Amino acid sequence: MFYYFFLFVVIFEAIWELILTIWNLKYSTNPKASIPEVLKDKFSEEDFKRSKDYLKDTTKIKITSIVVNLAITLIFIFWGFPYFEKVALKITNSLILQGLIFFGIYWIINILVKIPIDLYSNFVVEEKYGFNTMTLKTYIADTIKHMIINVVLFAPLLSLLLWILVIDNNWWWKVSIVFVGFQLFISWIYPLFLAPLFNKFTPLEDEELKSKIMKLIKEASINIKEIYIMDASRRTRKQNAYLTGFGKSRRLVLYDTILNYPEKEILAIVGHELGHHVKKHIPKLIVIISVFYTFLFYLVNLVYNLLLNYKVFNISKPYSAFIYAFIFISSLVFFVMPLINFIQRKFEYEADEFSSKLLGSPEYMISSLKRIIKENLSNLNPLPLYKAWHYSHPSPEERIKKLSELKG
Ligand SMILES: [Zn+2]
Repeated sequence: MFYYFFLFVVIFEAIWELILTIWNLKYSTNPKASIPEVLKDKFSEEDFKRSKDYLKDTTKIKITSIVVNLAITLIFIFWGFPYFEKVALKITNSLILQGLIFFGIYWIINILVKIPIDLYSNFVVEEKYGFNTMTLKTYIADTIKHMIINVVLFAPLLSLLLWILVIDNNWWWKVSIVFVGFQLFISWIYPLFLAPLFNKFTPLEDEELKSKIMKLIKEASINIKEIYIMDASRRTRKQNAYLTGFGKSRRLVLYDTILNYPEKEILAIVGHELGHHVKKHIPKLIVIISVFYTFLFYLVNLVYNLLLNYKVFNISKPYSAFIYAFIFISSLVFFVMPLINFIQRKFEYEADEFSSKLLGSPEYMISSLKRIIKENLSNLNPLPLYKAWHYSHPSPEERIKKLSELKG
C-alpha cells in the first residue's frame, strides 16, 4: 500500500510542477496579457515581447529539467538505489564507507545529467538574450571547483550523519542539530572563503559613492566596515546586490553590473539590502528554516523506520532507507513551499519600505526596480498560483504598486 502511495506522491509532485510551469507560460504570454499600468512608462511593446520570448525559452528548459528529474528519480527508485546498495556492499564492510560510496554514485550521476541542461541554458538561451558573459573555460573551472568544495564540505558532514543513522534509529533531532549547525557554519564561511573562489571582491573605490553609502549604513545603525564590488560581469549581465555573513564576515556586496545605475538608484538598492538586515530577516529565516527542517527530518525519520521495518523497496541499509524517505518527504514538502515564499515576500515589502524611508522617497526604489526588471527581462505577468509557489519576491507590478502607496 505504502509503495503505491510513495510513487503517487513523487509522480504527482512532478506533474503538479509541470502543470504550474506550463500554465504560467500560457497565462503570461497569452495575447490578452498586457504591460502592467505602473510599468508602461519604461516598457515598450518590444521590451514586453522580448521578456515573453525569454520566458518561453527558459520555460522549455524548466520543463525539460522537471521531466528529466522525474525520469532519473524513478530509475533510481526502481533500479538504481538497490543496485548501488549491492555495489557498496561488495566494496566494504563499513556502513559509513558504504553510505559514502552510495551517495557518491548518486551525486556523480546527478551532476552528469545536469551538465547538458546547464550548458544549453548558459550558452544557448542566456547567450541569445545577451546575458551570458561566461566562457566555456569559466564554466568548466566552476564545475570542478563546485565538485571539490562539495567533497571537502559534505563528505565529513555525511560521515557524521551516517554515523548517527547507524547508532540510533530515532535520529531526527540529532541530525537536525548537526544540520542547523552546518547551515550556520556555511553562512559564516561563505563570504570569507567560498564566494572568493568564484569571484573577485574589491573594495568600492568611488569615494563619493562610498561616503554616501556609508552615511546610509550609519543612519541605519549597522556595523559594516567595507563595501565590496563583485565581478559578476564575468558570468552574467544580470544585476543584483546582497548583504551577507555575520560578525566579522558581514559585508555589503554590489554586483559590478549595477555600477552604471544613477547614484540614487544604487543607494535605494543598498537601502533595500540594509532593510533586510535591520528587520532581522536573515536570523528570522534561519529560525524558520531550522524549525522547518527539524520537522522535515522528523517525518523522514518516521518514513525511514517504516521502510526498514516493512522492506517496502528492495533495500536493507540505513543509507538507502534514508534516501527513499528523503525523496518522499521532499516531494511532500513541495506543497509547503507557498508558505515559506509567502513569508519571504513579506520581507521584501518590508525591505522596500525601509529603503524608501531611508532615502526619504520611494521614487528611486521604484525606478531602480523598473531598470532591474527591464534589463533582467523579468516576467511582467506571472500566474498568481505560480507566484505563490515559486516567487520569493513579489511580482514587479506588486512591488511598485506597494511602493507608490508610500508616496502619500
Ligand atoms: Zn530583497
